[in-house]
Amino acid sequence: MVSLLITLLLAWMMLHLHQQRHAIQVQKYRLDAIGAAVGEGIYVLDTEGRTLYVNKAVSHLTGYNEQKLYHENLHQLLHQHEENDLPLQQCPIVSKALKGITFEGDEQFKTRTGELLPVVVTSQPMIERGQITGVVTVFRDISDRKEAERKLKRLATTDSLTGLSNRRALLERLHEEQRLSKRLGHPSSLLMIDFDHFKQINDEYGHNVGDLVLQHFASLARSCLRETDSIGRLGGEEFAILLPGTDLEGAVQLAERLRHLLEQTPTETTDGPVPMTLSIGVTTLHASDTTSSELLSRADAALYQAKSGGRNRIEVRH
Ligand code: GH3
Ligand code: MG
Ligand code: MG
Repeated sequence: MVSLLITLLLAWMMLHLHQQRHAIQVQKYRLDAIGAAVGEGIYVLDTEGRTLYVNKAVSHLTGYNEQKLYHENLHQLLHQHEENDLPLQQCPIVSKALKGITFEGDEQFKTRTGELLPVVVTSQPMIERGQITGVVTVFRDISDRKEAERKLKRLATTDSLTGLSNRRALLERLHEEQRLSKRLGHPSSLLMIDFDHFKQINDEYGHNVGDLVLQHFASLARSCLRETDSIGRLGGEEFAILLPGTDLEGAVQLAERLRHLLEQTPTETTDGPVPMTLSIGVTTLHASDTTSSELLSRADAALYQAKSGGRNRIEVRH
């Protein structure tokens, strides 16, 4: 009798266990189906950073297979910090969630091939019986948005004729450099450049040839500059070149090289070569300059002097 009861009890427990297992399986299938249906990557880490769950999109977006995502430290594998080895607890995505706060922001994930994937991330704490037991992270690929933002920025800061920085971008750069050179104590110089009798070129050869001359100058000037120098078109046939880390003497040498180069290299057109000359005003940043406009007006004054002194020349304002 007792053994019959025990057998029945055991059978009941087995059945119950089987039903429970079946219910868990069903839950898992549903979770996988939901996870597979969404385009966003979803992963769940416990408070130690172990992977509890990843959906298909994580593999799809990062290129890693699911096994690797479960077995590696997912945070270290994916999240690209500026300071590389940020511990899990200090990572902005995880640390907020561990404090019970939702995090949302643009971040970068590293894919299997080493490429950086711009993503928007939302992380929330996972709370079980009042305790934070992990972090649920959802992320979406925002490459298209970032690319569109980059294009817009390029359009807003570039002069369409020459491909150089436009006036606004160059003035911003000047402003930035004025503060930087004061803080770091390095010299910085500015060249203000204006074509001589440019109106005559337009009148004689037409506006299109005038445009070609401006483009020709842009590519010649670029070939003379260092990576850190900035050149921009201020408007019309007037350009400026900012030379961070270059003193007045170095700036005069560059101005002379540029003036000479343009004089020696006419623009080739279907109407034959079009010779051109430049007048250049050169100045350098003073420690006493409070804004970049003081630098600009000195360069302007030097340029004016070069024009009134006969053109095709360089003048300096200390
Ligand atoms: P100066 O030696 O005193 O500088 O004389 P300039 O003729 O160069 O100066 P001015 O300022 O009188 O004329 C500049 C000319 O540049 C007038 C304008 O039509 C022309 N210009 C301005 N922007 C463009 C442009 O984008 N393309 C062309 N082709 N010409 C332009
Ligand atoms: Mg001119
Ligand atoms: Mg002009």
